[in-house]
Amino acid sequence: MSDRLAEYRRRRSAERTPEPVPRDGPLPAGRDDTFVVQEHHATSLHWDLRLERNGVLVSWAVPKGLPPSPKTNHLAVHTEDHPLDYASFEGDIPAGEYGGGRVILWDRGTYETEKWTDREVKFVLHGTRVSGRYVLFQTGGKNWMIHRMDPPADPSAAPPPDDWAPMLPERRERLPRDASRWAFEFAYGGRRALARVEGGRTRFLGASGPSRLGTVLGEALGARPALLDGEFAEVDGRAAYLVFDVLHLDGHPLLDAPYEERRDRLDGLGLASVTPWFPGDGAAVRDAAARQGLASIVAKRLDSRYRPGATSPDWRLLPAGN
Ligand code: MN
Repeated sequence: MSDRLAEYRRRRSAERTPEPVPRDGPLPAGRDDTFVVQEHHATSLHWDLRLERNGVLVSWAVPKGLPPSPKTNHLAVHTEDHPLDYASFEGDIPAGEYGGGRVILWDRGTYETEKWTDREVKFVLHGTRVSGRYVLFQTGGKNWMIHRMDPPADPSAAPPPDDWAPMLPERRERLPRDASRWAFEFAYGGRRALARVEGGRTRFLGASGPSRLGTVLGEALGARPALLDGEFAEVDGRAAYLVFDVLHLDGHPLLDAPYEERRDRLDGLGLASVTPWFPGDGAAVRDAAARQGLASIVAKRLDSRYRPGATSPDWRLLPAGN
């Protein structure tokens, strides 16, 4: 019998990677019922699906992750068999080594095999984040597709829309009277764009910017689909995409959630480039903006809904300074 882990070993040096590199020898016997999905922040973000079979983890790299619905199939690239110990591996593979980047255990559980041939694998996953019937089928060489055979786990979930436009502020000269019902933000004067993130990939709607900025967002959100509002601006001489709203998250619209709630949800996403918001004291924000050399601030009503494409009195662009 050929050594099923020969290719795995050939690509790695036990001295240079924290990954398990078992010695050549008989393969362990398992129950052929463990699966694992690892989120792999390599050169290109992907999710590795591994199914325990005959003493190894048979593996596919899925660039957009497991499809949540039967409507869309995802590419799955067949990769070398991995040792069973890999099912608990998490860590940082050093840059420059094969697969360099962070590996996170995204999900792990048991699975049942319904069919297993060289070109088609049908199985049922029982995980924490993903469960249900899937089929992998070969389309050519290493390229396979993965299709969800069950209905979506969340039947009301939908992908983030790609035809919404930013909500726009009205221009005003004075601060709103009842400051306690408003929050204030700096206006950076950049190009507005919505960012649509799905399967760790970002597409900007309405304006384009450096692709690096989309990559950063996709890496940060991982498998969570989202539609964000923000602007391209220069920060410390470097292009940035500054985020200040979330319009759709985890398959559901947030348009009817009040601004305050959307802001809290956005703060909870752990993105690096979220702009600050200050409930209450507009005069202080206006002064601070002027000191930073910004021309304007935006006042937003705490209870306001998001109206795509509308110019709304609930958002007001005000001059900085006093
Ligand atoms: Mn990988």
